[in-house]
Amino acid sequence: MPCISAFYPRLKTGPTEGSRLKMQKIQSIRGMNDLLPGESGFWQYVERVLADVAGLYGYQEIRTPIAEHTALFKRSIGEATDIVEKEMYTFADKGGDSLTLRPENTASCMRAGIEHGLFHNQKQKLWYIGPMFRHERPQKGRYRQFHQFGCEAIGWQGPDVDAELIQLTARLWQQLGLQHIKLELNSIGTAEERHAYRQKLVDYFQPFYDQLDADSQRRLITNPLRIFDSKVESTQQIVADAPQLESSLSDESKSHFAGLCKLLDEAEIHYQINPRLVRGLDYYSLTVFEWVTDQLGAQNAVLAGGRYDGLVEQLGGKPTPGIGFAMGIERLIELLKLSENTVSDYRIQAYVVTDNSEEALGRAAKLAEQLRDQGVNTVIHHGGGSFKSQFKKADQSGADIAIVIGEQEIQTGNVSVKPLRDHNEQISLEFSDKLADESLNQLLKLIAE
Ligand code: ATP
Ligand code: MG
Repeated sequence: MPCISAFYPRLKTGPTEGSRLKMQKIQSIRGMNDLLPGESGFWQYVERVLADVAGLYGYQEIRTPIAEHTALFKRSIGEATDIVEKEMYTFADKGGDSLTLRPENTASCMRAGIEHGLFHNQKQKLWYIGPMFRHERPQKGRYRQFHQFGCEAIGWQGPDVDAELIQLTARLWQQLGLQHIKLELNSIGTAEERHAYRQKLVDYFQPFYDQLDADSQRRLITNPLRIFDSKVESTQQIVADAPQLESSLSDESKSHFAGLCKLLDEAEIHYQINPRLVRGLDYYSLTVFEWVTDQLGAQNAVLAGGRYDGLVEQLGGKPTPGIGFAMGIERLIELLKLSENTVSDYRIQAYVVTDNSEEALGRAAKLAEQLRDQGVNTVIHHGGGSFKSQFKKADQSGADIAIVIGEQEIQTGNVSVKPLRDHNEQISLEFSDKLADESLNQLLKLIAE
């Protein structure tokens, strides 16, 4: 019979490789954040306002999958853009298909619209909200999973729809009580006009080739308009004297833009025309706009959008005009926090404390359900503890009232209601199975006060 101690050495070597790995702390992916309970109230509030405002203008929600075939983004956003060149989360699935986590949602909306015939003899006003994914360098206001809210108006040529869409965005700031966000506007003409302009730009930048930063040198060949987006100071100086896009616009494009400006003037929406605003995605045409702020440091764009008249056709649909925008929700919430506006937040209203007896907990459950029927957010203290510690928790919860069910209450067939936020007297209400209407009203009044 083998000696039992023969097994000891193995046990003494400590955890195996597998179990050691299991013990390492697993953390979230860099640039992808948890939204903790203390923050979620902000998000719920903002999401409600966004959905309400979109609804005021006749927009309806669309939800598309977070992964799409990679070709969708390559064909719509454009191969020579930052997003497609270096920011996409692209992977092969088990069947070998190339899939991508969506870096933005306009392409998916158009794909879905074409697939389901939403643009066939009809126009659409759509809104969406959800996570987007870009492999960028994480920093404040720039994440790898972030969230966008956006609207798309498909089927109208504008500029009346352009103006209304911008008016919707202005109403968002108003509704959220945000100031210090400024509108910048430009027209980038049609694809043909941009093509002609592109040649003018190449001719202009060519002599400065050696002075451009490396990214801009590359863009001179792939996408010279994007040189305008360079943040490098020396490149910016060269950009300052570059020919302006306006010189390449047709009369028709100019009159679309003039029409938009006139409508915005009439709506008293202030804007600044920024001839350097070109936007980083290939599919835009005519109107482009951004709402920018000086309160968020380098990440200054809160909302960006534009017209994309060629996109539906580019994705295999019939020629269909469209315009839309996307807003970064993380940046918006950051602004909201800076503004210190009161955000209507979730709140516990009633907190039930008991002597932890079966009888008391049974009554607590019945009373809590009766209050929840009335829409009162009610928490029962579970897990025991003295009355003193339970009252402390009730106070910390922010509840308006504590409801007490102890030995005395059970004996007398009552519950005690103690206001926590004002100096009203504690009251006693008759309760065996449920509160009578009159008692219920008395209790609700203490919450409303
Ligand atoms: P930026 O110049 O800041 O990179 P962008 O032009 O790439 O912005 P869009 O693709 O137009 O941004 O997206 C619209 C909005 O989404 C931006 O104005 C911004 O508020 C938000 N956004 C874009 N990328 C990120 C990100 N990585 N993290 C957080 N928000 C983002
Ligand atoms: Mg970007």
